[in-house]
Amino acid sequence: MLYLALALVALALAFLLISGRARRDSGLPGGEVIYEDMSGWEKTEKPLYDPITQLTGRPDYLVRRGNLVLPVEVKSGRTPESPYDSHIFQLAAYCLLVEREYGERPNHGIIRYERRTFSVPYTDELEEALIDLLTEIRQDDRRKIVHRSHQDVARCRGCGYAYICDEGL
Ligand code: SF4
Repeated sequence: MLYLALALVALALAFLLISGRARRDSGLPGGEVIYEDMSGWEKTEKPLYDPITQLTGRPDYLVRRGNLVLPVEVKSGRTPESPYDSHIFQLAAYCLLVEREYGERPNHGIIRYERRTFSVPYTDELEEALIDLLTEIRQDDRRKIVHRSHQDVARCRGCGYAYICDEGL
């Protein structure tokens, strides 16, 4: 149950914890717009699990490229100029899970918005930023109370947790 909770929190991680500071410090990669043929995409049947971080999650699709398995996340709603930080971290979590499950590290993952598809490199720096974030989440989970870390009204408007959040803008 703990890991399920962590996974759910992980999906919310950016909404709760990511700030401009996180982006500057971690050097989050932007995404490169790509054309992507969906024919090789396979729906993920079961959640992926990592016993070390106790993270679990299910990317929308997995796609094979030679020896590599790449996670794909599909997002509805507005198509941004570049992927949102929260979506990058979510994809990074899936990259980590794919590496644990399949034994090969994906060199990138894919985020598909309605009008654009981005390739996001899974760099060592991004992985480190993810691990730092998971550590923060665990600490915050123990504290039980997590405060808003930004002043971005648009972020709250688009947040899937706004209905239970009492600090929304
Ligand atoms: S509504 Fe705003 S403050 Fe609350 S979790 Fe979402 S982004 Fe964070």
